[in-house]
Amino acid sequence: DVSLTGVTKTFGDMTAVRDLDLNVPQGEFLSMLGPSGSGKTTVLRMIAGFEDTTSGSIRIGGEDLTRVPPHQRPVNTVFQDYALFPHLTIAENVAYGLRVRGQSKSDRSDAVSSAIAQVRLEHVSSRLPHQLSGGQRQRIALARALILRPRVLLLDEPLGALDKQLREEMQIELKSIQREVGITFIFVTHDQEEALTLSDRVAVFNNGRIEQIGTAREVYEYPQTEFVARFLGLSN
Ligand code: ATP
Repeated sequence: DVSLTGVTKTFGDMTAVRDLDLNVPQGEFLSMLGPSGSGKTTVLRMIAGFEDTTSGSIRIGGEDLTRVPPHQRPVNTVFQDYALFPHLTIAENVAYGLRVRGQSKSDRSDAVSSAIAQVRLEHVSSRLPHQLSGGQRQRIALARALILRPRVLLLDEPLGALDKQLREEMQIELKSIQREVGITFIFVTHDQEEALTLSDRVAVFNNGRIEQIGTAREVYEYPQTEFVARFLGLSN
């Protein structure tokens, strides 16, 4: 599981995350909702190791990772700025992580084909990134992360650039991939409907804190604070 204990993050005199406790069991799909600036992305970046915590600790599978560099954490990320290597083909981009791990080309090729098929982009695998649409690049970023079979996948609006139909297809795909592989998904979205359909639990952030965490049903049917009710559009 992923465990944050007493995590605080300040930028100068701005407190982005305040004394946060959060435990995400292995295999859970957790969505983080909340207004812009409430600290969701900062939490993801600290779990990934891209930001240090100002205080508090982060453990994954019981191991204290608070000061461990990003590439040594059992975590992978799909962020909005899904940078692909511009000079590598799509298939080479997806294979990259396996190559770094020392897998031979023949061992990689099945895994690469099936990862690209999972995001339904078989027909573009020999193209370069600039020859793809934004939504296609986003799906490739997802394939590139999934192929490494991380224990934890952090996703920041990974479906943000997709049109409605593709977004719905990819939601179903994401959910089935997550169930199948048992990866922990920690997911930031601005789309409440998406959080509701995908998540085991939803955390509603406000001002660097979690106002409420529970199953989508609990949070929607029994909002515990005025803020949560208002944010979810449940009160007038
Ligand atoms: P959004 O929904 O807009 O992505 P968010 O809930 O993810 O917002 P964060 O991006 O975590 O919010 O930002 C939390 C607060 O921390 C904001 O006030 C933001 O301006 C501030 N912040 C984030 N990163 C930095 C940084 N590198 N330097 C200074 N302030 C930062």
